[in-house]
Amino acid sequence: GLPVIYLITPTYTRLEQKAELTRLSHTLMLVKNIHWIVIEDSESQTDLVARFLKQTGLNYTHLNVPTPAEFKLNMDDPNWLKPRGVLQRNAGLEWLRRNTSPRRQPGVVYFADDDNTYSLKLFDEMRFTKKVSVWPVGLVGYLRYEKPIVQNGKVIAWFTYWKPNRPFPMDMAGFAINLQLLHDHPEAAFTNSVQRGYQESTLLSGLKISQDDLEPKANMCSEVLVWHTRTEKSKTRNEDNMIRKYGRGSDPRVEV
Ligand code: UDP
Ligand code: MN
Repeated sequence: GLPVIYLITPTYTRLEQKAELTRLSHTLMLVKNIHWIVIEDSESQTDLVARFLKQTGLNYTHLNVPTPAEFKLNMDDPNWLKPRGVLQRNAGLEWLRRNTSPRRQPGVVYFADDDNTYSLKLFDEMRFTKKVSVWPVGLVGYLRYEKPIVQNGKVIAWFTYWKPNRPFPMDMAGFAINLQLLHDHPEAAFTNSVQRGYQESTLLSGLKISQDDLEPKANMCSEVLVWHTRTEKSKTRNEDNMIRKYGRGSDPRVEV
């Protein structure tokens, strides 16, 4: 049948989390044969995410693994300082190796951060990935987009400003992997111990992929179908002001 799209989404508790997950879930509700693997960056699975996933009606798997303290971002750290979602994505990969058999049910694996914006067309593009498929990502790298440069159907170079000499200088949102390939390379994984920007390259090198293997999608990488959008941090300074002025703030029983 139709290959299943397995989405690996790391997520963490913050004010905007339920809003992000709601928006992403509504996109996924419009996609056929999808399995959403949601991995919380936490010591245990939260009720908020457990309840949220259940009510979506989507096929999903709920996992959790905490980021070790030494790799965790502090509140006022710039967000490029440390890698984000590394152990969570690895937990998703391990789950797939243990719980799927691509010979019986073919699949494709995509890393879908909770805050990006996904065109429905993207899922049609990635579904029949043979090894690794690639496409442009909008609003990333302090550019309008980053993308593979394609000539005669092959990726020959990359349009990117930052560290262009990385083996695969693209964002997590810019590629998908055939599920069989993941099973064929059981050691391939992300790691907290590589330089900034090398997560994608580390995984793809572990899958023994060469640039020549990449399958350009989205009309030979000429269309942007995913955007690396980022949500502004919500400020709640009037919560304290409410208490000071009126004697009470918002009701903590109301989930946001
Ligand atoms: N994330 C996480 N733990 C963190 C920070 C981020 O699991 O401490 C998740 C986040 O929910 C998202 C992904 O990792 O799905 C990438 O994080 P973010 O969007 O903050 O990074 P950026 O867009 O700056 O690469
Ligand atoms: Mn993001």
